[in-house]
Amino acid sequence: MTESRPAAGREPDPTCLFCRIVAGDIAAARVHEDDAVIAIRDIAPRAPTHVLFLPREHIASAAELTTADGPMLGALFGAAADFARREGLADAGYRMVTNIGQWGGQTVGHLHVHLLGGRSMSWPPG
Ligand code: AMP
Ligand code: ZN
Repeated sequence: MTESRPAAGREPDPTCLFCRIVAGDIAAARVHEDDAVIAIRDIAPRAPTHVLFLPREHIASAAELTTADGPMLGALFGAAADFARREGLADAGYRMVTNIGQWGGQTVGHLHVHLLGGRSMSWPPG
């Protein structure tokens, strides 16, 4: 069975900060975990609430996603929306964003969606 194996390039990367957090080798403030996704408080928050939702699997960025990732993405965005409701952010609104590559502002090469809330956001981003 090849279906149960990760796609090429998706094995845990020992040099990847978020793979090490997923593995528990580096501590992080976890606010959610399920079979596919974990969520951690950002270490340098840019808003009163700033949480990162990331797949357990090493995926370099959203540019690597395929239709096979649909269930994981549903779990990821669903967990983020549930968290926003629990934190009381849903009525006022909040932002979810994922950065891709250097000009996109990505600094950690493991897919993650930022959930930012608790203040008004400007548009477009800087
Ligand atoms: P990005 O720049 O979009 O790749 O986002 C990476 C995010 O990871 C930044 O907002 C960092 O503050 C955050 N970050 C870096 N190291 C850690 C860590 N050890 N625990 C939690 N968040 C982190
Ligand atoms: Zn990784």
